Parts: sequence; structure tokens; C-alpha cells
Amino acid sequence: MKKHPEILVAGGAGYIGSHAVRDLHAAGFTPLIADNLSKGHREAVVCGELLEGDLKDEFFLDRIFENHSIQGVMHFAGKCFVGESMSDPAIYYEENISSALTLLRAMLKHGVNNFIFSSSCATYGNPVSLPLRETHPQDPVNPYGETKYFIERILKHYDRAYGLRFCALRYFNAAGASLDARIGESHDPETHLIPRILGTVTGKFEKIQIFGDDYPTSDGTCLRDYIHVSDLASAHRKALLWILENDASEFFNLGTGTAYSVRQILESAQKTTGAEIPFEKAPRRPGDLTELVADPGRAINILDWQPEYSDLDTIMESAWKWERHRRY
Ligand code: UDP
Repeated sequence: MKKHPEILVAGGAGYIGSHAVRDLHAAGFTPLIADNLSKGHREAVVCGELLEGDLKDEFFLDRIFENHSIQGVMHFAGKCFVGESMSDPAIYYEENISSALTLLRAMLKHGVNNFIFSSSCATYGNPVSLPLRETHPQDPVNPYGETKYFIERILKHYDRAYGLRFCALRYFNAAGASLDARIGESHDPETHLIPRILGTVTGKFEKIQIFGDDYPTSDGTCLRDYIHVSDLASAHRKALLWILENDASEFFNLGTGTAYSVRQILESAQKTTGAEIPFEKAPRRPGDLTELVADPGRAINILDWQPEYSDLDTIMESAWKWERHRRY
């Protein structure tokens, strides 16, 4: 491998992508960030070169591959809200699938065949057994998960037919922010649980709604496996190194194996912030599943990866520090 290899990070100005960019830079790679800034933030690019443009614009991509010696591509760009995908599925199918196809076409045309893809635990659908292993059947129940699943299928065939090598990383719930609070989560509108709760503390939102308290769980609220965004970032780097060393493709869960309920997250936020956080019960959100929890064993064993920052205290404290100091 070349010294300081160039890695194209599509969507590198977004929440998870910007953490991956910093992690790559710290590990001696040269990240190039392709982002149209429709959802990403210029301020989130704290290292590497920002190349502003759209992934559906093949000429934009051609220029990048012609002007750089890219060793691999990480693809974070795309729409990422379960609820929105239920109310407006068209933008999910159009945006997520067409940008992935254009990016893959440009890569292969320019002889770049190492690809790390942001997939999701939403590709599994309703769990028939828990914790979820990578071999669990995939039958997504919302368009967001379905677009991720379709792209996984595309990758499998591109591997067989075109020699693409990929890792599809099935994230559970990305959470937290960089420990120095320089970068963090910033969506507009914000729908994710932890930033909604913390935004209630800072007065951005009036109260937090708990979507459903009649699920078959111990306190009636949904269970999710929260994984710190810096742990996701390190997993991407390790997955890329694994592809480069092994010339192989694989699917990996990225979670911790521990699930917390919506109420437990609320309690953790109350403890961290010292605030009494107003909440109300609300109807279930369409597309939500009762429980999602990972078996992360494959990533731990094969990628030699370990979640380091994903205990709930570190997640909440880093998210709270970010919420108080955020610049975007
Ligand atoms: N949730 C909630 N109130 C909110 C936002 C989310 O009760 O304002 C619940 C949501 O129904 C799910 C969990 O919190 O059970 C995590 O939701 P989030 O949108 O953060 O991530 P998702 O699991 O949908 O990817």
C-alpha cells in the first residue's frame, strides 16, 4: 500500500462520515470528502479535502478518480430516517439507490474496487431470533432498510461479476459525538432519540415524545443497541484494511450486543444533564421494530475491532458536550 493512501469518503461531511474522515486522517490515510452539503456540513470537515458535488453526477466523480490515486471508497451518503422513508418512500429509492449505482459505476470504470458501505440493521426486518447475527434472514419492513438491502444485493453481484470487494457494515443505532465535541450529530429536522432528548434540555424542543409504551418489553418501550460514532469510524478503517489484505468481501454487524429501552435512554440523559426532562406518551411510529440488538462477534473476531466508547455514559456525555458546544 502507498504511503498516506487516498480514500474517497462519500458523504464525509455528514454525521458518521465526518467521524470516519477524522479517524482515517489520524491513522495516516488521506481522506477526500465528496459531499453535496445538502445534509452535510462544511464545518464538519475538520481535515482532508472537501470536493463539493453530487454523487449522482458521474462527471464530478470521473474528475475525482482521474485526479487522484484512490485506494478505496467509503460510502456514507444517503437518506437515513426510518419514519421519513415510510411517509416519502420515493426519495429513498431514488436517492439512495441511484447514488450508490453511480458511485459504483464510476469506481469500477476507474479501476477502484474496494468499497465500504453504510448498511443497517434495518435490513433484517422483524427479528426471528436475537441477538441478530449476519446470517439472520433479511426482510426489511421500511423503505430505508429496503434500500440498504437492495444495495447489499447489488454489491454481492458486483463482487461476483466485476471483482468488486466490499464490506457492508450493518449499523445498529449510531450515537454520541467526538470526545472533544468538535464534530457531532446535526440533522435538520432532527428525529433521532438522543439529540431530541438533549435538544429538549436546551429548550430547542418543548418535550420528548415516547413513540409507543405498549411494546412487549420490560418497560413497554422499544429496545435499541446504541453504538458510539467513533467506534463506527474505527470499524470502517479496519474493514478497509481487511479488504485490502484479504481481497475478500463480507457483511458485518456493528453494535455492542446490549440493548437499551427508550425510557432507559431518557433516564441516562436525566442523569448526565441533571435536568428533569419533560416527556409525553405518543402513538407507535410506523416502521419501528420492538427490539434490535446485534451479535457483533463477527466484526470483533474477523476485523479485530472492539467498541471502546459505546458504554451508555460515554455516549450520553459526549452527545451532551456536543449539544452544548455545537457549531453547526
Ligand atoms: N423515539 C422516540 N421518540 C423520539 C425519537 C425516537 O420514542 O422522538 C424512539 C423510536 O421510536 C425508536 C428509538 O427511539 O424506538 C430509536 O429511534 P431513532 O429514531 O433514534 O433511531 P432508529 O431506531 O429509528 O434508527
